[in-house]
Amino acid sequence: MDGRSSGPSHFRGAAAFAATRHAVSFGERPSGSEAIGHLRDWIISELKPLGGQLSTDSFTAQTPAGPLPMVNIVLKFPGDSGKAIAVTGHYDTKRIAMVHFVGANDAGSSTGFLIEFARTISTLKHPDDIYVVFFDGEEAVRAEWSDADSRYGSRHLAAKWGADGTLSRLKALINVDMIGDKDLDIANDENSSQSLRSMVRHIADQLGYTKFLRQDSGGAIDDDHKPFVDAGVNAIDIIDLDYGPNGSYWHTASDTMDKLSVHSFQVVGDVVLQLVKELEGRTSARNSAPTAIGSIVHRTRRASSNSHAIL
Ligand SMILES: [Zn+2]
Repeated sequence: MDGRSSGPSHFRGAAAFAATRHAVSFGERPSGSEAIGHLRDWIISELKPLGGQLSTDSFTAQTPAGPLPMVNIVLKFPGDSGKAIAVTGHYDTKRIAMVHFVGANDAGSSTGFLIEFARTISTLKHPDDIYVVFFDGEEAVRAEWSDADSRYGSRHLAAKWGADGTLSRLKALINVDMIGDKDLDIANDENSSQSLRSMVRHIADQLGYTKFLRQDSGGAIDDDHKPFVDAGVNAIDIIDLDYGPNGSYWHTASDTMDKLSVHSFQVVGDVVLQLVKELEGRTSARNSAPTAIGSIVHRTRRASSNSHAIL
């Protein structure tokens, strides 16, 4: 419920941007690396003061490069309705041979976003359990994405939450990925639920953010929401895959902080916070708005043993 943290009860784009900058300062941080361990320690140090129930979900992923240790970070702010909403993203960066890839947008932006989102939730009353989840292992270990090699953390947590009953309590899962681009244009993902896409579009319209949502069809995006979609969860991916001229900043050394803007974080933060409020019934429900379809990329599968630590 209410955290002990102070600060405003709205999402601060500048704080999310600053947290992203700090995450990026750890350098290349692929799953299993020393750097991602340091980043994880820092994320946990940021989350601990917020209250809530902080835990890690550790497992060994079977990857094309052999077994890799991976750790999802799960922060739960308990409510009393029996229902739950999850806001998720990934914090690992892609390992790219011969490239110094610091991933400001991918996945610095989701990392910084989630830290600020958690802080915001810690200041609000909310009837539902709110989960804030940092996935490890979204990126494929090999250069090419495949169903078997990608989304290790989200596949692992979807299976775990399926087994322990959490999935059946989820009203929605909202995944964010690559949301810091100065030139923000959120894809209209066909793998995302129609109702959540409609809600996001309506909220964006109301907040004056219509221009940040693409209207065109972008196809079905495979990202960390997909394992939950496949398990029947009402889920949406909020992602901007159009990053740089002809996508030239994506998975390249050009994915740096100067390509991001505070305002883009603010837009996505405002929309996601309002979406959570509406899903909880804390504001008037929206009617379905016109829908369109969106952009593309990602895909995956495969994980293994696990341990769960309460922090
Ligand atoms: Zn990526």
